[in-house]
Amino acid sequence: MPSSKNSYDAVVIGAGIAGSAIVKSLKNNQISNFLVIDKGLGPATQTSAHGEALCHPYIGRGASRLQRLTFMAFNEAKAVWAANWCRSGVFHLPRTQDGFDKNIMSERLLTQGFSSEMAKPLSAIEAKEQIGIAAGGTFFPEGGWVNLQQACKDVFEELLPEQKSWATEVKLIQRSKEGWQIFGSDNHLIATSKRLFLASGLGVKDLAKSAGIELPLKPVRGQLSRFRFSKDSSWDEAKPKVALSGKAYCLPPQILADGQYEWVVGSSYDEVVEDLSIWSDSHDENKALIKEMLNHELVDSELKAVGAFVGIRCVASDRLPIMGPVLNQPGLYILTSLGSRGVMWSALASQMFTEHLAEEIHHSAFLDARFFAGARLAAAGLTADLAGALLAARFLAGASNSKPIFPSA
Ligand SMILES: Cc1cc2nc3c(=O)[nH]c(=O)nc-3n(C[C@H](O)[C@H](O)[C@H](O)COP(=O)(O)OP(=O)(O)OC[C@H]3O[C@@H](n4cnc5c(N)ncnc54)[C@H](O)[C@@H]3O)c2cc1C
Repeated sequence: MPSSKNSYDAVVIGAGIAGSAIVKSLKNNQISNFLVIDKGLGPATQTSAHGEALCHPYIGRGASRLQRLTFMAFNEAKAVWAANWCRSGVFHLPRTQDGFDKNIMSERLLTQGFSSEMAKPLSAIEAKEQIGIAAGGTFFPEGGWVNLQQACKDVFEELLPEQKSWATEVKLIQRSKEGWQIFGSDNHLIATSKRLFLASGLGVKDLAKSAGIELPLKPVRGQLSRFRFSKDSSWDEAKPKVALSGKAYCLPPQILADGQYEWVVGSSYDEVVEDLSIWSDSHDENKALIKEMLNHELVDSELKAVGAFVGIRCVASDRLPIMGPVLNQPGLYILTSLGSRGVMWSALASQMFTEHLAEEIHHSAFLDARFFAGARLAAAGLTADLAGALLAARFLAGASNSKPIFPSA
């Protein structure tokens, strides 16, 4: 039997940006008897060790689920991660310039709910003048990037020592009469909790499996290159004034004390690879992609790699995040599969969990059949079908069937 010392109202496994988002939701509901467990020596030691995660809404061809969700998630991200938001503006370039038409893009953006302040299509001539890039695209003035590691540190610094347990690897979870039991190595019972949040990135796959839940998650390796170039190089003439996104992404180059520029450019995308070493092939790939985007005569050898961030994204088979309660598993919640959109999805999840938990507390019951959106998020466009598209239940026929069911869109 657990002693009252290790019995909690909530346990969160994982102290990356997903775990940080959940901590915010618990605190928003005045839940303080919680414990965050991570196998690292502190917060954000894995994929959320990322210092430059870009954020802007997705532009689809129509109002797809992804487009509607990112439209909302972007607004939530600006609020949830406000203290860590570096607003530079983001210029988004289409995959190809063929057929890019500023007027058609303007109409499309309006039908997707963007005002002309939120998203501004620019012709190649306008972009050259305003952004420094001779290619058409869409400028998001409020777009920017977040230092994920700092955002996590800020969240965990505010917690009491007894609310966090570092260097603790969870091996198994199991539901019992007392609640969720969390075991470490040698079947050591770490904690028992009324609510359990799995926020351990790719690690959710094994933990969920230990409770009979099969999720189609896979690793995708990514490398963000740190390049340098000098003021008299060809790259200086082509450098952007704001962050760019498209086939690749980059931050605006920063000038160093020695007059050189340092430039963060990413990110390679290697499916089912978990190697964290720096690859020169990935530097070459990032260089080639950004070169295509800049649309300028550039000399490869003038851009030199000086370092990199390498991380493993967790991605679900339908590329959407998994968030919310788990059907027929009262008190179990998941937040993972944030893919390349950790900033936006963690923020949306934080707000949704805040409203969902408030509703559960109000009813004194677990609401595991749906992810509850309160009045504010519902008014912002979070319809039941969108909230449902995020649930783990989309992959589960019944409570513990291993055959995934894919959403229709
Ligand atoms: C190269 C690259 C570029 C990216 N660019 C962007 C970008 O521009 N914009 C953007 O929004 N996103 C970007 N991302 C994605 C973003 O970094 C991730 O979505 C996000 O960091 C994932 O956070 P997480 O909390 O789910 O996972 P993690 O940060 O990996 O956290 C999971 C935590 O769980 C712990 N853990 C795992 N298993 C266990 C266990 N069994 N017991 C205890 N603890 C456990 C780990 O130690 C870890 O701390 C990028 C990712 C990469 C790799």
